[in-house]
Amino acid sequence: MTEIKLHNTKTRKKEVFTPIDPDNVRMYVCGPTVYDRAHLGNARPVVVFDTLFRLLRHVYGEDHVTYVRNFTDVDDKINARAEATRRPIRDITDETIEWFHQDMDALGAMRPTHEPRATEYIGQMIAMIEDLIAKGHAYEAEGHVLFAVESYKNYGALSGRSVDDMIAGARVEVAPYKRNPMDFVLWKPSSDDLPGWDSPWGRGRPGWHIECSAMSYELLGDSFDIHGGGNDLQFPHHENEIAQSCCAHPEGKFANVWMHNEMLQVEGKKMSKSLGNFFTVHQLLEQGVPGEVIRFVFLGTHYRKPMDWTEKKREEAEKTLLGWKSAVSVFCDDLPDGIKGQQPPVDVVSALADDLNTSLARTRLNEYAKSAQKGDLQAAISLAEGMEFLGFKHDHTWEVGFGASLNKILDDPVDLGVYEAMLFTARKAAMETKDFAEVDRISSVLRDAGLEVRASKTEVVLDFTPDFDPSKLEALK
Ligand SMILES: [Zn+2]
Repeated sequence: MTEIKLHNTKTRKKEVFTPIDPDNVRMYVCGPTVYDRAHLGNARPVVVFDTLFRLLRHVYGEDHVTYVRNFTDVDDKINARAEATRRPIRDITDETIEWFHQDMDALGAMRPTHEPRATEYIGQMIAMIEDLIAKGHAYEAEGHVLFAVESYKNYGALSGRSVDDMIAGARVEVAPYKRNPMDFVLWKPSSDDLPGWDSPWGRGRPGWHIECSAMSYELLGDSFDIHGGGNDLQFPHHENEIAQSCCAHPEGKFANVWMHNEMLQVEGKKMSKSLGNFFTVHQLLEQGVPGEVIRFVFLGTHYRKPMDWTEKKREEAEKTLLGWKSAVSVFCDDLPDGIKGQQPPVDVVSALADDLNTSLARTRLNEYAKSAQKGDLQAAISLAEGMEFLGFKHDHTWEVGFGASLNKILDDPVDLGVYEAMLFTARKAAMETKDFAEVDRISSVLRDAGLEVRASKTEVVLDFTPDFDPSKLEALK
């Protein structure tokens, strides 16, 4: 069996991954708060943990992995949006979940096994809070229930902070009813105009952190294998989840391995509305950037490094993916049926098994693509399997923009070698006659058809660009 190594935030080491139960490998990833379109940064953990999900399914079997990702559908940002738009909360959250699914489907992300909504687990959250109060880890004050951080001696262990450091660094307004400034809200009162549920502490709603503890316990048990999310969630969200879960269920270990992806930047700068470089996945898709291209760019950077989204990377990704798809399409009649990524090349799997080295996996596939372009059928099969395994369609094309030209290629593969030979022969003749008219004519047709032309004394190399239009090559036939 493939040995998987993962970097564990908890131990700060890369460790061999040993599941609690190889027949049911369990992973929980914190999902979105649903009040608006997902921005590009929101998509990063989705793609990172989708890749891990695919690897785990490959190693342990498709039916032996349970992946849970929640939807936070009770939150003050949602309430504010409902008030601003005068729309019912449920309309907003339903619509946003639908958008999220559409956008993440476009990125080739598989749906998790379970996608629980917080509002469907309120009863379980109340039960957990009651249990925490009974065990002396939480207290009620002025209609709120707070978790007492001093009651949990390991508080801060994940992010490596002490409670005193946190107090010193905290800039939050300290509510007078808190015993310790770091105590956090498990339950808070709701006024009549806000969503609320009856509870032993009056009508109210949960704090943010408790939902992940309650839902992971319900769906994965008191101990599970992997907990993931963006590294902005490490503190306080994940510290608080650990405190709640370990105090409510001291017999369990909560999550064994903690994984955090780094953040996303745009052209070297933090993505923010004020810098004008803030955009959603939907906006990119609308502009004609294929979801697969976004995914491909993401996989070029290791998940523990900051990911820089640049226009250059997007262009290169389009070109490379197009090259891969056309390398496979040349062999479309010879490929075995049912290529679904179930038999990916071993070197691609082992790259992912080494703490998700996705950029190495990409490099490996590019090597197969080069061999396939030289006529190696086996390499084309490996490439197709590896593409599917990583979430790319080997035989489907994009519906918009660049995809339109790819469609034409897949229907009628273009052999660039023929045109390279044509131009090379013309150049050779022109060297003798010193008449370059024919060379210029051929070159300009090729460029006009959206091909990149590089010619030297010894060779001619053509390459596709996003503007490729094979119909314009007719002029050379
Ligand atoms: Zn969470």
